[in-house]
Amino acid sequence: MVESRGVHIYKHSELDFANLRSSFRRSIHISNNLNQAMGIDGNNILAESLKRQGVEYVFGIVGIPVIETAMAFQAAGLKYIGMRNEQAACYAAQAIGYLTGKPGVCLAVSGPGLLHCIGGMANAQINCWPLLVIAGSCPEDHEGIGGFQEWLQVESSRMYSKYAARPPSARLIPLHVEKAVRVASAGRPGVAYLDMPATLLTAEVDEDKVPLEYHNPGPVRLAYPDPALVDKAAEVLSKAERPLIIVGKGAAYGHAEDAICKLVENTKIPFLPTPMGKGVVPDASPLCVSTARTQALLQADTVLLLGARLNWMLHFGQAPRFAPDVKVIQVDISPEEFHNSIKSEVAVHSDIKPFVEALVDKLAAKKFSLQPNTNSWWKTLGDKQKKNVEFVEAQANDKSVPLNYYAVFKAVQANIPKDSVIVSEGANTMDIGRGILLNNKPRHRLDAGTFGTMGVGPGFAIAAAMWCRDYAPGKRVICVEGDSAFGFSGMEIETMFRYKLPVIIVIVNNNGIYNGFDKQMMQDIQSGGDIAQCTPPTALSTEVRYEKMMEMFGDTGHFCRTVEEIEAAVKKAVAVTDRPSIINILISPQSNRKPQAFNWLTESKL
Ligand code: ADP
Ligand code: MG
Repeated sequence: MVESRGVHIYKHSELDFANLRSSFRRSIHISNNLNQAMGIDGNNILAESLKRQGVEYVFGIVGIPVIETAMAFQAAGLKYIGMRNEQAACYAAQAIGYLTGKPGVCLAVSGPGLLHCIGGMANAQINCWPLLVIAGSCPEDHEGIGGFQEWLQVESSRMYSKYAARPPSARLIPLHVEKAVRVASAGRPGVAYLDMPATLLTAEVDEDKVPLEYHNPGPVRLAYPDPALVDKAAEVLSKAERPLIIVGKGAAYGHAEDAICKLVENTKIPFLPTPMGKGVVPDASPLCVSTARTQALLQADTVLLLGARLNWMLHFGQAPRFAPDVKVIQVDISPEEFHNSIKSEVAVHSDIKPFVEALVDKLAAKKFSLQPNTNSWWKTLGDKQKKNVEFVEAQANDKSVPLNYYAVFKAVQANIPKDSVIVSEGANTMDIGRGILLNNKPRHRLDAGTFGTMGVGPGFAIAAAMWCRDYAPGKRVICVEGDSAFGFSGMEIETMFRYKLPVIIVIVNNNGIYNGFDKQMMQDIQSGGDIAQCTPPTALSTEVRYEKMMEMFGDTGHFCRTVEEIEAAVKKAVAVTDRPSIINILISPQSNRKPQAFNWLTESKL
């Protein structure tokens, strides 16, 4: 051990992990039992505080000064999953937060470690998911004189979080942990950051001076709806000729599925899930109008917006994608969101679940229900649905090689368990897959989300697989990746192997970003001049054998060009339950989406 201005810097060779861990456990055990004053250091105070605030999972990468921190976490009974890149760790921690409703922790080293988390923090903040990032930082007495990995970490985090702080002393760690967990979870969820200088982590204080029992307030009850606004919402909705319910990921996060299923079932109002709102009401419901999305948005005269923002994903709620005089009933836990982009007809500050429960009663009292067989709104939507389904079916049944996206997803969908968690990222892969890979359970779809972040897939899949292991044994995670998307965090396959997580990674490989080129064309293009000037920015290497990454672990992956090969590979992968699988599917580099009535990204009007 090197003593440096009071800081303990361990050399790797000096670390005896097993001994260190058991001494952590011993010191906590003794102090609990004998109830006598003993020294406890910052690492253990942090670990105990997190445990007592209900944190369950930590994803991270260790290094100076947080190796002992991670071991203290394990000794305190937290689950620690070591990842290969802080970004992926941060994605995993926020996904577990979304799945469990309790913030996951991302643990990182100082400087670059924390900076690698920033993209993940922004992603969580923009998706409104609870996350607590904790990073070690350089010893306080090295600050300002060029300390190792010295960086302004609290300042760097502030823009990407609801709360960012450095506990001023070891004794105050429990207070800041309580606050960080509470702020990350409360109201509209988001990010909290705690900065832990090496000097704080190793500082020893008398245990009886540390308020380890610092109160855990438990979940704070969210806002209930004003009954007058429920009345108004019921009134507006029951007068609508062409009503539409939009179900967002706030409804999924708010566990409002039972109430929303009842609302849809009772009223027969068509509903449209946002990408991660999928599964709150099963996608297979006949009342789901995803296959007539454009028409539904365009012609609805009244929209009940449940836990979704009118941002780019919903075309700002504006013309030309919505009727210019559409009435929006907006329900959100965050009142700051009201009247953003358009003026809502009714704005209800409420947790989705009690609002929808109250609305169901009100509409039942009014005996409000559409008749899909005779209703003209349903007829319009039904005609459109039929046309779209016919197009998709024709594509999906076209098995010619190289395959198109639709045929690939049909073969995958037919062979995976229907209650699987679907993780997806990519451009066409994610967009086309969304329509064909169905969700029949809430919180079972994780994708690039509101921020459109690439690289989230493997981290999300690891979190989902941990959640399945602990909360839904036997359930599977299917991670559907474009070849470009997979490249961002593909090395997390090692993490999946280490923790024996049976994630099925499906790579839809078109040799590029959006579109690629076939082998011959790529050779021709690259021989045409300076390689850096003539290689198309969207191109990736052709026919890359990503599945051979399995060989790094003495295993074999699946390489597919045909529907039959996909079906056989998915069946085999589903049978494997103790390690990940990779199914690498070559498709036509020119395969595309169905032509759209509108550009997917609404044109700017400036
Ligand atoms: P989507 O991507 O599905 O459109 P967004 O992320 O845009 O969804 O919006 C989710 C919204 O849900 C946010 O505005 C957030 O404040 C809100 N929200 C989160 N939890 C709840 C809840 N329990 N009740 C009501 N609204 C919620
Ligand atoms: Mg691609």
